[in-house]
Amino acid sequence: MKTDIEIAQETKLIPINELAHSAGLADSEFEPYGRDKAKVTLDPSRQEKGRLILVTATSGMPAGSGKTTTSIALAQGLKRLGKNAALALREPSLGPVFGMKGGAAGGGYSQVLPMEAINLHFTGDLHAITAANNLLAALLDNARHQGQVQLREIYWRRVLDVNDRMLRNIITGLGGPANGIPTEAGFDITAASELMAVLCLANDLEDLRSRIDRIVLGLRPDGTAYTCGELGATGSLLALLFEAFKPNLVQSIEGNLAFVHGGPFANIAHGCNSVAATRAAMKLADYAITEAGFGSDLGAEKFFNIKCRAAGFAPAAVVIVTSTKALKWHGGVPLPEIGEPNLEAVKRGIVNLDAHIANLKQFGPNIVVALNHFHTDTEAEIEVIRARCAELGVRFAVSDGFAKGGEGAEALAREVVAAAEDFHPLVHTYEADAPIVDKLNAIVTKAYGGDGVKLAPAALKDLKRIEELGFGKLPVCVAKTPFSLTDDPKALGAPKGFTLPIERLILNAGSGFVVAMSGSIMRMPGLPKKPAAMSIDVQNGRITGLA
Ligand code: ADP
Ligand code: MG
Repeated sequence: MKTDIEIAQETKLIPINELAHSAGLADSEFEPYGRDKAKVTLDPSRQEKGRLILVTATSGMPAGSGKTTTSIALAQGLKRLGKNAALALREPSLGPVFGMKGGAAGGGYSQVLPMEAINLHFTGDLHAITAANNLLAALLDNARHQGQVQLREIYWRRVLDVNDRMLRNIITGLGGPANGIPTEAGFDITAASELMAVLCLANDLEDLRSRIDRIVLGLRPDGTAYTCGELGATGSLLALLFEAFKPNLVQSIEGNLAFVHGGPFANIAHGCNSVAATRAAMKLADYAITEAGFGSDLGAEKFFNIKCRAAGFAPAAVVIVTSTKALKWHGGVPLPEIGEPNLEAVKRGIVNLDAHIANLKQFGPNIVVALNHFHTDTEAEIEVIRARCAELGVRFAVSDGFAKGGEGAEALAREVVAAAEDFHPLVHTYEADAPIVDKLNAIVTKAYGGDGVKLAPAALKDLKRIEELGFGKLPVCVAKTPFSLTDDPKALGAPKGFTLPIERLILNAGSGFVVAMSGSIMRMPGLPKKPAAMSIDVQNGRITGLA
């Protein structure tokens, strides 16, 4: 079979004007960025009419489980059934593109295009967020240098959209008084910037402004919070984010509308594309397919409890993507052997699917399990998964969108249409005004299958400070490994009887949540032994090796 980029490059794209006009957009509602991308500003009178379908997955494994591929396949499958389906997906980060995982524009015959642009600079949103984040850092350090503010603790960090472990902890301001105040500082990846979450959760420009105003940059000597609004930086940040805040319109291989916008990771941030993109998809299509990162313990939990709450969304159905590879991994098979048939390992690993189904059943909407088909799958392996879904009373379909595009996902599309007919209201994991520790305990017991949380001494101190500042009732955004329901990436399957250790609590008053850092999760990833970057090139005037 051809590589992802070969398939992408031989697809003839619909010119962006044609795509936008065929979706009923007026010229005033979109601005083309080149031939095949556009920024969209829909008329405010447009109503959301589409059913929202969330795509999530079983626990992660190093290769990715195929959520984006299956989301795109599903939209294409719905289109083949004559339904109007649009996608709302996250923008890839250069970290994974050049690091371990590779691109995030789907795969095979289920991709969003132009994949090279989407995976690299796209319309510049991530660069804009990086610039805005670092302008804020520079303005803050300048205000300290000029003696305009004194802080005893600084929360705001710099960001970069490249995996670089050397920058996790650094000292800035060395070289004497003319060069600033020496400060312990560090970089996170852009996907973890609070501005990324703020851009994704803001309902409109005024909401964006007030969220940026509320960002807490540090603590004054008397323990009070110093905010971005007080610094006076909000206007400039808004100006830098003005274009980035508009959803990007592109297309799937089979011509579905795709809004690719905002890219927080689900292990260190809330893991969902922007509210604006999801809303645009719901306004323009009858089915809006959106993906939340990693497993249902991470992206889906935050989708329901953070994003749906912030935006007032009520999903009509949930798709859980799994694969024989993911289940084999959770059945203990090492990565090099994951492509070989192994019925016993699938039977062992299926407890992970059970756990995610149990988790998702609590939220209300109907569930469809999508088996992302790999050419190495055997009938016997597929049958084990089909039978388990029947036993648990959830819908099941094989999705072969990678090899066959929408045609391979028609069965899945039919199941999703049926699931979305029968609406069940969303049940949140915790009450909006519950204390932070109660929220964390609810997440661990209901969404991870554990016994509760244990806060390390530093996290207890953080909690006290957050409560004193008046943010003790914010939702929580757990930062945790995607490879396990626990904080230990090696604890596979469906572990029980564990508590989740929380090392730190980080206030994100602008995003409107508190990030709970569990285990040794890093907000700036490192590069692996053989980065994907080593296979990427430009040959004969074309980019090669992006996957
Ligand atoms: P996720 O969104 O869950 O991280 P992706 O859809 O991005 O996963 O897929 C991860 C990688 O696996 C991509 O490179 C994609 O091309 C590849 N992939 C996904 N599904 C299949 C499949 N059925 N067969 C072969 N490769 C696949
Ligand atoms: Mg993905």
